[in-house]
Amino acid sequence: MITMKFGGTSVGDVKRLQDVALIVKTHLPRHPVVVASAMGGVTDLLLDTARLAVKRSSQVEPNLRLLKDRHLQVSQALVRDRERRDELMERQARLIDELSTLYHGVSLLKELSVRSLDAIASFGEILSCLQIASILQDHDIPAEFIDSREIIRTDANFGEAAVDFPTSSDRIRRRLLPLLGKSCVPVVTGFIGGTEDGLTTTLGRSGSDYTGSIVGAALECEEIWIWTDVDGVMTADPRYVQGARVLPQISYREAAEMSYFGAKIIHPKTMVPAIEAGIPIRIKNTFNPSAPGTIISHTADTGDRIVKTITSIDNLSLIAVEGNGMVGVPGISARIFAALARVQVNVIMISQASSEHNLCVVIPHRDCAKALHELKSEFERDIAKKVIDEVKVQNPVSIVAVVGEGMKGFRGVAGKTFTAVAEAGINIVAIAQGSSEYNISLVVEQANAHKAVQAIHDVFHLG
Ligand code: ASP
Ligand code: MG
Repeated sequence: MITMKFGGTSVGDVKRLQDVALIVKTHLPRHPVVVASAMGGVTDLLLDTARLAVKRSSQVEPNLRLLKDRHLQVSQALVRDRERRDELMERQARLIDELSTLYHGVSLLKELSVRSLDAIASFGEILSCLQIASILQDHDIPAEFIDSREIIRTDANFGEAAVDFPTSSDRIRRRLLPLLGKSCVPVVTGFIGGTEDGLTTTLGRSGSDYTGSIVGAALECEEIWIWTDVDGVMTADPRYVQGARVLPQISYREAAEMSYFGAKIIHPKTMVPAIEAGIPIRIKNTFNPSAPGTIISHTADTGDRIVKTITSIDNLSLIAVEGNGMVGVPGISARIFAALARVQVNVIMISQASSEHNLCVVIPHRDCAKALHELKSEFERDIAKKVIDEVKVQNPVSIVAVVGEGMKGFRGVAGKTFTAVAEAGINIVAIAQGSSEYNISLVVEQANAHKAVQAIHDVFHLG
């Protein structure tokens, strides 16, 4: 058994959906379970339209028409059997009517809760998976639409609901195994779930990967395949690094580390069910289905590769709190983090030299003003007493991260990294290495980030 998750781009138009049908057909002997997202852009459109409905905007009707046309066009083009097509189109039209009623309710009440947003967002995956199931049937593949609100049980934390794993796994098995036994392909809606009381919830944006992992783990599949639009996980971003190439294999840890540092592979939380069940996740390209992709599993299989990838995140600010009075004083860092937490600023990297005279944090640039304001007021008295000299900012900066499980206990990686960056004529502003030793991150001026990535990529011969 293989769980195959198709994202929004992979199910986003007629051509792509044709490819999906071929992919599923090719792998029928492996008993695929399909988990799919809404058509690309649909979730955003659904949510934006809800916000327009609260304002009683005249744009609601045109948006609904757009949504209807986009789906009906696919049904027209891809379901050849007349009866099946009519049935699908009627069902989709009824769903659009239901959605229209919801928008109407929102605009009458002039109220839009997260709970309503979840109910509205769920239409994207339902519309999409209904058509995928029909398209598969039209290709003579036995398939059945599965509304995951029946099988993924969650709490009522709308917008980012927590999954009740024992109940969900049990339901997934009871509902899907009989279908698989008959060689029927279940087409499961990603992203959505249901509470005990039958309310619709969502698992957080981009949550279909999570559904894929939950379903794959519950069924103890051989592998979970995440179909996307790239050939796999790369050694660096090919848009600006020469010689970047696909990695055949990385570990769960490496994948998580890379995701923290800007590589859009798979959200770390998403992998948890797969990791616990020890099921490998494979990243595959719908545009190039015969490519093996990248397999993510427990083993790092480093071979001779110590370093696996170099990633970078742009649009960051570095804030440094400095002062001779800070040395040896307990509680300064606690105050820095408490202040940032008060204004809901996420800290991406922390660095403090053992002299304790300077502590710096790296945060998203968009949060810089509020973070600075809060820190300055937190340390106002210490600044007046000269315990702290100042709160300094540097903008815009990037974090460049060197990731690889093989770095653990291996000497010289940091030295080689810093030398390569220095030889490229780039100044390193700050450095951090977690004690896991799976990554070394450095802060550089944003203008130099790509050059730094290239220099490190070259020095470790990743190309
Ligand atoms: N359709 C949802 C979203 O856009 C879930 C997903 O794509 O994974 O967030
Ligand atoms: Mg998506």
